[in-house]
Amino acid sequence: MTTPDDLSISWQSLLEALPDGTALIDVRGVMHYVNSELAFLTGYTRDELIGENVQILIPPKLKSMEGEARRQYSLDPTSRLIWNDRDLTVLCKDGSERSVDFALSALTLDGVHWTVGSIRDNSVQHAAEQARIEAEQHFRLAFEDNMAPMVFTDLEDRIIAANDAFCAMMGRTRSELIGFDSKPFTYPDDVGITEASHERFLHDEIRQVRYVKRYLHKDGRMIVVEVSKSPARDKTGKTLYFIISERDITEERMLTAQLSHQALHDPLTGLANRALLDDRLAQAHSRILRQGGNGALLLLDLDDFKGVNDTYGHLVGDQLLSAVAHRLEGVARDTDTLCRFGGDEFLYLAEGVGGTDEAQLIAQRFLRSLDEPFLIGGLSLEQRASLGVVVWDAHDAEVSDVVRDADVALYEAKRLGKGRHFLYVSGMHHNVVNRFSLVQELRQAVAANELAMHYQPILRLSTNEVVGFEALMRWHHSERGWVPPGVFIPFAEQSDLILDLGAFALHESIRAASEWGGSKELLAEPYVSVNLSARQFHDPGLLALVRSELDACSLPADRLIIEITEGVALMEVADTLKTIEQLTNLGVGVALDDFGTGFSSLSYLALLNPMIIKIDQSFVRPVTASIHSDRLLEAIVSLGHNLGMTMLAEGIETRAQLERLRDLHCSLGQGFLFSPAVPFDEALSMVGTSFDF
Ligand code: C2E
Ligand code: MG
Ligand code: MG
Repeated sequence: MTTPDDLSISWQSLLEALPDGTALIDVRGVMHYVNSELAFLTGYTRDELIGENVQILIPPKLKSMEGEARRQYSLDPTSRLIWNDRDLTVLCKDGSERSVDFALSALTLDGVHWTVGSIRDNSVQHAAEQARIEAEQHFRLAFEDNMAPMVFTDLEDRIIAANDAFCAMMGRTRSELIGFDSKPFTYPDDVGITEASHERFLHDEIRQVRYVKRYLHKDGRMIVVEVSKSPARDKTGKTLYFIISERDITEERMLTAQLSHQALHDPLTGLANRALLDDRLAQAHSRILRQGGNGALLLLDLDDFKGVNDTYGHLVGDQLLSAVAHRLEGVARDTDTLCRFGGDEFLYLAEGVGGTDEAQLIAQRFLRSLDEPFLIGGLSLEQRASLGVVVWDAHDAEVSDVVRDADVALYEAKRLGKGRHFLYVSGMHHNVVNRFSLVQELRQAVAANELAMHYQPILRLSTNEVVGFEALMRWHHSERGWVPPGVFIPFAEQSDLILDLGAFALHESIRAASEWGGSKELLAEPYVSVNLSARQFHDPGLLALVRSELDACSLPADRLIIEITEGVALMEVADTLKTIEQLTNLGVGVALDDFGTGFSSLSYLALLNPMIIKIDQSFVRPVTASIHSDRLLEAIVSLGHNLGMTMLAEGIETRAQLERLRDLHCSLGQGFLFSPAVPFDEALSMVGTSFDF
């Protein structure tokens, strides 16, 4: 029998050269030759192994397999058996196990059967495989099972992988997604966003971009997502594909939108509120500073809206406000901001306005939109408004000034008779006091004796003698100096303060008149003419007040005239007629002030039957003297004569005007040509005199 010892040297060296641990085994399993690699792999020396049965290298758990291996092998001893697909290990000398691939081959030498057994260390490969499996599990956790929607896309934006969460978010199956680019299910406006993000990766060295984009769910609904996208790059830095993780922020967005809408809008009308306007105003202002151009601010206040609330209740008031807001919105430009500024005030911010003409056109558009009455709960309500208009440009100072100026202009519009707009004129606010602090200051003024009555003489034009004085209120403000009544009376009219002012005027004027005894025999004692505002005139306590003031100073009633404007007289005609009748019965005269500026029809004039008609200055001093305006003056004077009323011309400033009025036989007149309103002492010195004209 040929033993391994008989093998030629070349065989031994051949086995020695093999990279695998190899043994020559006889039919009983005894190893007759082992190479150094086998010794190395198992931790034995070659001598320790030679002569041993291979059993010593087989770990206990594989012992049972050995029988099967032998059987398979014995069925076809010429075949080569390789096991590399199982978890095979070899038992080392120190008891540890080493992971190996295993092969058996038959070898017949001179008719004797041998087996060549070899093992190859695969622990490195095994570890790599293990790592691959773990990586796969990690990936599954990180991608497939991730709660966040995730996709991988190639450089052409085609989806190469999508996880369950992404499919669920999109309402599509994987097969409906993979291989497609995202365009078909991206919200049309946002298609460019994805491309832009690609560009950034291709040209910049960034690792991640974040953006918000909108998708379309399969059912057509819009989905808003926050995307974070990173490129997967190879060692050279070349981008292979993109890893995209998304967050569905649709609901979050809706909630935020809802909250910010609530924070920035008025709940009743749905219009922008002050906070939003402030913001827009600041933006507009800085745009104008940067780019030039004009901005316009229109402050609209409903005329006598309080009356609606008082008469019909707040429910109707609210409905009317909403309806007004709706009309205004109808004529507002989309790019401008219409805001509910307060109770019945609206502010309109227009940018890119050509100039004051255009701003005034906008104002007229707003006013016209309120022309038609409002139908609310079966009621037909007329609701007019007044508007203050400001146009500003880069040279104008602060934004807060613009709002103040609009306010100043608004009150001028109100003062001029409401239902109209007024354009702010530069510097106007110096003459007009801030209305917010004004009512407060005015209250204090009454207590601090800052109010005084001044008296403007009224002359009989044929003789120039002083027949009376108009009492005009003055406010000597500690800081602002003389504040004219046109400024503060309208404010006082908005509260009960006007009643205090009215009482003061009556009291002072009657006391003054009681001291103007006619000193010269020929001349009658002068009368005093007191202006009353609507609230006072329609106040139920008026008659009692007049009577008690007259009594207190023992002034004959016929030395008092009460002035009311046409507007006041026409407010509640039935009531007006009753009050006029009561005053007349008492002996007090009534003068219709500012005649010609209101809208009283001739039939009303006859009905009211005032003792005196005061022709408004605008007829006495027309802006453009024309035949037309002259004829008007003539017509008014003759009208009054025909009705048997005394005609008084206001605002006579020139001799020519005086001459003309004399020609027309206008009885009375007042104006700067003779004297402005003067303090009591000065007025006293005019009593019983006549002017030299
Ligand atoms: P009004 O009753 O029409 O008073 C006449 C206004 O014309 C006064 O202005 C007077 O100073 C001014 N005036 C008189 N002559 C001339 C003139 O030749 N040229 C010009 N340009 N103006 C002249 P004032 O004092 O500023 O009063 C303005 C308005 O304020 C009054 O108009 C009246 O409606 C109201 N008012 C004044 N005092 C009182 C008051 O005690 N109570 C109430 N309710 N209103 C008052
Ligand atoms: Mg007057
Ligand atoms: Mg007047």
